[in-house]
Amino acid sequence: MKILLVEDNKALANGLKKALEGELYVVNWVSTGHDALLVVDTDELDIVILDIGLPDINGLEVLKRIKTQHIYLPVLLLTARDSVEDKVKGLDLGADDYLTKPFDMLELFARLRMLSRRSTAVTTDSKIVIGKVCLDTASHQVSCNGEMIKLSRREYMLLQTLMENKGRVQSRDSLEAKLYSWGDEISSNSIQVHVHNLRKKLPPSFITTIRGVGYVIKENTD
Ligand code: CA
Repeated sequence: MKILLVEDNKALANGLKKALEGELYVVNWVSTGHDALLVVDTDELDIVILDIGLPDINGLEVLKRIKTQHIYLPVLLLTARDSVEDKVKGLDLGADDYLTKPFDMLELFARLRMLSRRSTAVTTDSKIVIGKVCLDTASHQVSCNGEMIKLSRREYMLLQTLMENKGRVQSRDSLEAKLYSWGDEISSNSIQVHVHNLRKKLPPSFITTIRGVGYVIKENTD
């Protein structure tokens, strides 16, 4: 899951980024509305966390423009405690959820899980189950036939992305964009290496390679 964090308070943004990365999200951070609008048009994003009080463009205007171009991209608004009017306007403009500052990280994580469920529509509570494989997006545990499987951070993130997009082929470029944030080092074959390692831990035919295109987990899989 890749998040664009739009927040001009650097200390808050750093804290949020660290906490979200601890929950295995990939986070790109921008501090202005202008940069946010550029990034939503070019990056592979799953969720936007958008502060309303930005230095250049009002967050509500940013929200409006995001929703005009990317109606299905979930946006979670961060609002100030006293701005009921902002919340109402935000929801009218298509915000998918909001949190009032200051908020508890655990509440943010729960809201994000809810938003990702809404966008993928394949999960019940926090679990995605395909065939014998079960991935829990809350505990980050993966099991096969009821037995826990140990995965690295990137392996988990790759598997989650593929399972959330069941039946939809994911290109290597798109997977790279979803799994790495700006500044991360990526070796040219990193996705292939992670898929190779995942295959050793999962049922053999769980991940299908579409030659020259990418990878997919099919609807009916063993
Ligand atoms: Ca702000």
